[in-house]
Amino acid sequence: MIKINSDVSIPNETFMNINNTKSFDNTSQSIFNKCGKASDSPKVTKAIDEDNKSLSELISGNYSVLYSIDWKTSEGTQKFLDISQNFSSAAGKSLFDDMISRYETGQISKEDLQKNLKILLDMSEFRPNDNASDAEWTSYYDFLDLKNIVESEGFTIEDLKNFDYNNYFNKITKPCAENFIKDNEEFAINAKKAKLLSSYDVSKSQIAPLLPKITNIKTGDNTVIQKFNDNEYQITYSDDAINVKDGNKQYVIDFEKLFSQIKHENDKNSVKKMIQSLSAPVLIDLSIEVDTIKVCNESDSATYAQYDGKDNVITINLAKKDEKNAVFALAHEIGHSLDFSKQDGRNIVNSGFNKEFIEIAKRELTKLDGKSDYEKQYATTNPVEMFAECYALLNMGSSADSNYVLATYFPKTLAYVKKQIEEQRNLSEGDRNFIGRESTLFERLSENSSR
Ligand SMILES: [Zn+2]
Repeated sequence: MIKINSDVSIPNETFMNINNTKSFDNTSQSIFNKCGKASDSPKVTKAIDEDNKSLSELISGNYSVLYSIDWKTSEGTQKFLDISQNFSSAAGKSLFDDMISRYETGQISKEDLQKNLKILLDMSEFRPNDNASDAEWTSYYDFLDLKNIVESEGFTIEDLKNFDYNNYFNKITKPCAENFIKDNEEFAINAKKAKLLSSYDVSKSQIAPLLPKITNIKTGDNTVIQKFNDNEYQITYSDDAINVKDGNKQYVIDFEKLFSQIKHENDKNSVKKMIQSLSAPVLIDLSIEVDTIKVCNESDSATYAQYDGKDNVITINLAKKDEKNAVFALAHEIGHSLDFSKQDGRNIVNSGFNKEFIEIAKRELTKLDGKSDYEKQYATTNPVEMFAECYALLNMGSSADSNYVLATYFPKTLAYVKKQIEEQRNLSEGDRNFIGRESTLFERLSENSSR
């Protein structure tokens, strides 16, 4: 699942948007997460020592310290601001002017001057905000011109001297850099709060009566009786399949068919393990709804799994190592598949067009007006994600990333989805399962029709 973008691909179909929210799922990989202040005095002393050392190196003309600053982070930005200002007070001129005069007095080559100016200008570059004054914009555009000049081969010292670096630094770099640092600090604080929400206990919330009561009783080596609310299911696990018995109805998840697009045995076993953790109703939905599960390995992605509505395929990102969340994410994707059903030969999403559902969700969504973004978890992305997150919570007792928001703000939506799930389950099996192009059944059907 991704934030901002949803994990469902819906071809040619649009759905009514309830809201767009940013979230913080990706913060562990954020370049901003290094932001913070030294917390105890030995560290502070050490930092001051290091800063003094860097400053004296700069004053002696050793600019290599600039290259060690991780200037895209807020920590690096702060370091650059500090070092630039300390340099100006100590040396009586800006770093920019110092570089030029060292070149003029023959202490550095033109090539070195160009290289050093480039890094200095990269670190100094900030775009003014939209309501900046004309003078600020002029200074910014002059700065961009200067950058082009420095990057060109034939620049002259006069070209450089025409630019008032001090003015640009004080008017643009300093205030913009300070804003950047402040925003990142807020972002980090919100990310921390968002992380706390992920361990929110739904069982003590107002929606507790809607949550499933699940108990497993082992009746044999591979057999479990699962009590799910008032229902009782018998689940039999083997290497090739999972069988679920609901009264006299039998459902089979055939791994060979389901994994026809997965090459490696290890990957098959990882997915098998996830499936074995699903509750009985989710297993039954999986057996009816989905013919094909694929895998990918994208460590840069925040997405646990994805549902492709066009071909009715679930793809699991095996690079995500949080096993518990991976199972809830898989249940979420099965929820998408339940939500999509066959209409006029296409796989159409119900929740995205269901006006009653959207009305209920929208009404509850207004309670989030004015709340911080971190509270608006994944379910609030759009109606389709709302349905899938509710599905996971109602059928597994937890969603991967929306427990807090659903339990706090969406009790009526959850109750509605509970009914809606039953309605989708009452469709004929033929209407529930859309046979996508990746399904083994699709191959067999097209072979037959071509003969
Ligand atoms: Zn989704």
